[in-house]
Amino acid sequence: MTPQRPSRIHHVATVVRSIDAALPFHRDGLGLEVERVVDIPGDGVRIAFLGVGESRIELVEPTAPGTGVARFLETRGEGVHHVCYEVSDVAAALADLAHDGVELIDTAPRAGAEGPVAFVHPRSAHGVLVELIEAPGGPAWARLGFTPLDRGSRVRATRRRAPKATPRRRARTGPDRRPAS
Ligand code: ZN
Repeated sequence: MTPQRPSRIHHVATVVRSIDAALPFHRDGLGLEVERVVDIPGDGVRIAFLGVGESRIELVEPTAPGTGVARFLETRGEGVHHVCYEVSDVAAALADLAHDGVELIDTAPRAGAEGPVAFVHPRSAHGVLVELIEAPGGPAWARLGFTPLDRGSRVRATRRRAPKATPRRRARTGPDRRPAS
């Protein structure tokens, strides 16, 4: 079995009470570049992405009560929320982890803000919520309706709305699975 080895830390996410209040430290204090600030009303969050080399810091501000992030802030206060690793194939990585008995929150890739993602339960990850994101152009990108915007070092994703479920579903288990690229 060839495990899906992560190629980099894509981002580390921290929950903040207010992005406006958190930006001065990160942008002016640490000197991080603010790439963009986006509202995701469907998830009840506002997110700021700040570049650090080939990785990012993601500041997450809850904008609606009742979400997981809002509960996190209420019960634990501001702090590190999750670490996101980039892999070439999220579905294959999930299959590897499930095979090893790891508890998954998402058993299949789903659409994140920047590409196909899946979460691993902190119970199986020594207390850390782990996110996996698929590298641009991976097999779940087209399936979930993502298109890379450019081929530079900072590839961003655009996404069609409501992609059709594809009836063609390849099994990704067993020894014939492609090795990580
Ligand atoms: Zn994330």
